[in-house]
Amino acid sequence: MLSDFEKLGLEPQFLQAIEQLGFEKPTPIQLAAIPALLDGRDVIGQAQTGTGKTAAFALPMLQRIFSASSEVEQARGVKGLVLVPTRELAMQVAAATGEMAQNTRARVLPVYGGQSYVIQKRALARGVDVVVGTPGRLMDLMRQKVLDLSQVRFVVLDEADEMLDMGFMEDVETILSEVPGERQTALF
Ligand code: AMP
Repeated sequence: MLSDFEKLGLEPQFLQAIEQLGFEKPTPIQLAAIPALLDGRDVIGQAQTGTGKTAAFALPMLQRIFSASSEVEQARGVKGLVLVPTRELAMQVAAATGEMAQNTRARVLPVYGGQSYVIQKRALARGVDVVVGTPGRLMDLMRQKVLDLSQVRFVVLDEADEMLDMGFMEDVETILSEVPGERQTALF
């Protein structure tokens, strides 16, 4: 039931999105991760793809950044950062996050190698709130000074095991070193 999502602490704007997406009740990873993340804790979650992992981190991330009370005075700028190992995942996670943010003014941008820099730079210049990206392209955009991570408050490492296997460890460390230390971190 939708009220099961409400019990996890999600606000009406997200409950509405959940209803529009047709989710009826939280999955086990959502039951475990959402309250802890909403509470401001760092979380390590283990779940297979297809178990509702994306919503388990995206909903609390969006609410932490765009809760109804803080939304009005929100300035644009990257506040949520999701690191993923592949371009497919970047597109997929950004699309899912965008759907969950449909009743907020959050702008979500996927960035990945192979896509035109012009498009990504234009979007970043207009103002983006959540970036979902692969480590290599994120590094490029940081080096070119078009991606500013100094306002990031919530970081997700999605498929962190895969990122390690693919040799992204060093890049991930470099990226995280540009993010303020008082951030919240979720590792899946
Ligand atoms: P993920 O594990 O994040 O790749 O999600 C797999 C699929 O499950 C996606 O199509 C989601 O839209 C869907 N999904 C996520 N959470 C729920 C839920 N609580 N109830 C039904 N479907 C869900």
